[in-house]
Formats: sequence, structure tokens, C-alpha cells
Amino acid sequence: MSLSLSEVTWQKSLSQAIRDPKELISRLKLPENLLKPAMKSVQLFPLMVPESYLNRMEPGNPEDPLLKQILPLELENETVQGFSDDAVGDLNVRHTPGLLHKYQGRALLMVSGACAVHCRYCFRRHYPYGEEPRTLAEWEPVWEALHSDTSIQEIILSGGDPLLLTDIRLQELCKRISEIPHVKRLRIHSRLPVVLPDRIHAGLLELFQQLTAGGVIVWMVIHANHPNEIAGDAEIAIRNMLQAGIPTLNQTVLLKGINDNADTLVKLSEKLINLGVVPYYLHQLDRVTGVAHFEVAEEQGRALVRELRTRLPGYAVPQYVREIAGESHKISLLG
Ligand SMILES: *Cc1c(COP(=O)(O)O)cnc(C)c1O
Ligand code: SF4
Repeated sequence: MSLSLSEVTWQKSLSQAIRDPKELISRLKLPENLLKPAMKSVQLFPLMVPESYLNRMEPGNPEDPLLKQILPLELENETVQGFSDDAVGDLNVRHTPGLLHKYQGRALLMVSGACAVHCRYCFRRHYPYGEEPRTLAEWEPVWEALHSDTSIQEIILSGGDPLLLTDIRLQELCKRISEIPHVKRLRIHSRLPVVLPDRIHAGLLELFQQLTAGGVIVWMVIHANHPNEIAGDAEIAIRNMLQAGIPTLNQTVLLKGINDNADTLVKLSEKLINLGVVPYYLHQLDRVTGVAHFEVAEEQGRALVRELRTRLPGYAVPQYVREIAGESHKISLLG
């Protein structure tokens, strides 16, 4: 089977992503003393950052808000009370391997264990991705479960990053999804438009347009935490998705030292709405082992969102939420 040129392009960009802390440090001209802790922390959760994302960082600045999202630190190895491996309770709601059913009317399919970037604060840094189904045959029990539960109107592709599947695999998934009569929406949660914009090529957008035309509307949820992420080729990819008619939302994780101030969050929302993306959620950090140094106190989060309300149109203020294990929906932190 031959791949289109654009499939080759993004796969090449992915294969060239930086995985070696030494290379990261020399490329960005960062202080050498960052290397030793990085080498230690990558043993727990490897480094991964695509070229495109790296290009949006400022060389020589260890405080760069994009760098801080991907740079492995010594702090990740600390044990902090209240932080655990499965903080959001994913493993308790695993229905069939590959299928999480914890939200009313929505089913979450874990279609890919891989990501194009490794966010150090990731809530799934300890998720047992290796156990998810890989071959098409292994997906059969998932399709059976989805066909028999008519309460499911929406399928959410999650992971890992679902857009790391090839177009051919995605086509197959979309075909199976369009065969389920009660499913009206496909939602795709992906960080690729921001970190590996090459992935958003014309062939992919056509696939989504076909699905939408066939009665299953595709919603995209991207993930950007800082206004500097919405630039260059990422901005073009987002414009292309919107031009293809795909409604697009953004989710942000509130991160200490990265976006925990009103000016940054205002700028992020403005960049998004100026493109046509709706700021959807501002997530309180999930309390997963190794991420405590990113946590912002809820009281501070509430104050930030109150300030956003005074400075932005209502639709540009994201909902400040937290995920609580065992709850079937996000909990609003503003009450
Ligand atoms: C909350 C959540 C969802 C469901 O999102 P809603 O927009 O609240 O329907 C899906 N996937 C993940 C990983 C979530 O945390
Ligand atoms: S892209 Fe999402 S799932 Fe992947 S490492 Fe980042 S936060 Fe985690």
C-alpha cells in the first residue's frame, strides 16, 4: 500500500522528534547542569519533542514556557503525599480493553498508546498502554459493546494521541463508527495540531469531512497551554481545520510557572478566539505521581478565572474544572 506524500511528511517529522536530552540541551543552548537530572528522569518517562514545537522555544532560556512542559526534571522523582499513579481512576472504568465508559452518553476509545510529545505533567504518564488492543481483530469486542449500548451518542478518540494512527487505520475506525446507528458525534482529543502540525494534511481533513457528511459530526479538541504554542505551522494547521468546517475547542492544563497568571491566559484565549477556536476547559492538574511541582492552588485558579471574566468575552473564558476519580463528569471549581 502506498502512502500519500503528506502521510510520509508527518511520519518523518515524528521519527525526527528529539528524544535525547543531550541533543535538546545543545540545540537550545541550555545550561549543562540540566543534563544529569534529565538523564535520570527520562528513565521513568522518556523525553519526546518534535522539531516544530522546539522551533517555538527561545534558545538559551531555561524558563521558556514551552520548554518547561517537556524538560525532564529531578523534581519528577519526588514522592509527594496525595499524588498517585492512577489519580483519575481510569482503571476502574475500563469496560473492555480499549474502551473506557465513565461519561454519560460518551464512550472513550483508547486507540493509540503513543504521543508525539511527552508532557511532563501528563495525567496518563503511568497508564498501562501496552494492554490496549492493537490489531483490528482485537477491536471486535469494543464494536460489539458500542453497537449494543444505544445510550452512546458520542465516541471520543483518546490515548495517547489518536492522530498518531495512520490515515488507513483512522479510515477503518471511522468506517466502523459510522456503522453504529446511534452514534452522532466523533470527538478527537489530540495535541498534534499544536505539536506536530504536519499531521493535519488535506487527506485527513477530507476523511473528517466525509464522516461529517455521512451524519457523524467530527469535533476536534486541541490542547494548548500557552499563547506561544499558537504560532507558525501550528497556527496554519488550526486555520486549515477550521476552514475544513471542523468545530474546534481547546483545553488547557493550569501549570505553575507556565500559565498561572492572568496575562498569559488572556493572551492564550485571545489567540484562540481570533482563529475561531473556543477555549473549552482549564483543567486543574490531575494529582499523578511526579507532577506535584506543576500544581497551582485551586484558590489561585479561581482568582485567575475571575480575572479572565473581567477581561474577555464570556465565550473566551474556559470552564475551570477538575477530574475526580469515580465521578461521571468534570467538577466545576467555580461552583
Ligand atoms: C473529561 C474528559 C473527557 C470527557 O470530556 P467532556 O468534554 O466533559 O465530555 C474525555 N476524555 C478525557 C481524558 C477527559 O478527561
Ligand atoms: S499529549 Fe496529552 S496524553 Fe500525550 S503526553 Fe501530553 S498530556 Fe499526555
